[in-house]
Amino acid sequence: MKKMKKIAIWLAVISIIVFVIAWGVVGVKILDNNYNYTTEAYIAYGSLAVFFVCLIYVRCTSRCPHCGKLRVLFGKYCPHCGKEIK
Ligand SMILES: [Zn+2]
Repeated sequence: MKKMKKIAIWLAVISIIVFVIAWGVVGVKILDNNYNYTTEAYIAYGSLAVFFVCLIYVRCTSRCPHCGKLRVLFGKYCPHCGKEIK
């Protein structure tokens, strides 16, 4: 479980790097008056999707440091013990 989370974080980092590179390539192509960048755009959107999936996965598998139960997606307080999650 912990290993999976590490993989998800790494995948998120890699996907955001791929996203930046893909848009960089698109930018270079536009500057070069080449508007044939559909593949790069798909890669960029694909990597963004991977990034969000990883982000949600990491958030979903995060546990409350106080009671150890799974915490909600974007809540500031634990729904089980009511303590604030930093
Ligand atoms: Zn809790």
